[in-house]
Amino acid sequence: MPDGPRDAFRSPRFSQPPTFMRLPYRPDVSGANVAILGVPFDGGTTNRPGTRLGPREIRVQSSLIRPYNYFQKVAPFEELAVVDAGDVDASPINLARAYAAIEVRVSEIVAAGARPLVAGGDHGISLPILRALARRHGPLGLVQFDAHVDTWEGDFGDQHFHGSAFYYAIEEGLVDPRRFVQVGIRGPMYGEADFDFHRAKGITVLDIGQVHAAGVAGVVEVVRRVASGPAYVTFDIDAVDPAFAPGTGTPEPGGLTSHQSLELVRGLAGLDIVGADVVEVSPPFDGPGQITAVLASNLLFELLSAMARGSVR
Ligand code: MN
Ligand code: MN
Repeated sequence: MPDGPRDAFRSPRFSQPPTFMRLPYRPDVSGANVAILGVPFDGGTTNRPGTRLGPREIRVQSSLIRPYNYFQKVAPFEELAVVDAGDVDASPINLARAYAAIEVRVSEIVAAGARPLVAGGDHGISLPILRALARRHGPLGLVQFDAHVDTWEGDFGDQHFHGSAFYYAIEEGLVDPRRFVQVGIRGPMYGEADFDFHRAKGITVLDIGQVHAAGVAGVVEVVRRVASGPAYVTFDIDAVDPAFAPGTGTPEPGGLTSHQSLELVRGLAGLDIVGADVVEVSPPFDGPGQITAVLASNLLFELLSAMARGSVR
């Protein structure tokens, strides 16, 4: 098993080049069960940019997290060999090339027997990740935390942008829409017809009103029922209220609290999570204390912990 995080009793938390939770930097992921991967790409962004800087800031802000998760009662680094595999060198000026590079890198991680745990990047990056994972696992279940549906067909005359990943994930057969649940939806829509795709495909939508009415436990119950079998978890940080997570490109008021978001991810423990991401963190728009990146790094740790409690692959 590779070394876990650096020992904070011997190496100050603010020292050494930043990796996620100060894990070993290991681009060769052989022997790892989980590979942390940064995807610093925001070429699919249509509103305010900056998520290309997300992975670096999330790594910096992850240095305070300690290795035992007492809410999930698990020490993930004792259950799983985890490395920081570095970043995808994704072209910042060519979306197709960037997506291809992401798919190749995630395929390498999957081929090595590891599960990708990704820090984005804009939400479009989930599509090439799902392409690589579905080739291995077949159509996946999907849990999406987001203010937005991201099931649009395209924008500005192009198919792919950060609001179309899950339209194409379904059209390409990467995701089983009946095992797909969206949580926290509240972004403005063009009309009721925007949900026709959901109805036609059988996607489960829990808008933010339903989330607040059902509470964390009620949402977790639905999510666990829908996303059975091998599943991917994607957490768009704009699911969280801008009061808690201002550092994002498309903020929508009235969202999850930071505590609810952590609790919801904890509720995923035991699902068969084959990969996960936290996306849309834009450090240039973050608040004092980099609160968005701090939350995103903790959400990644909760996802890792949930993976550690899940089925052994
Ligand atoms: Mn999104
Ligand atoms: Mn969003």
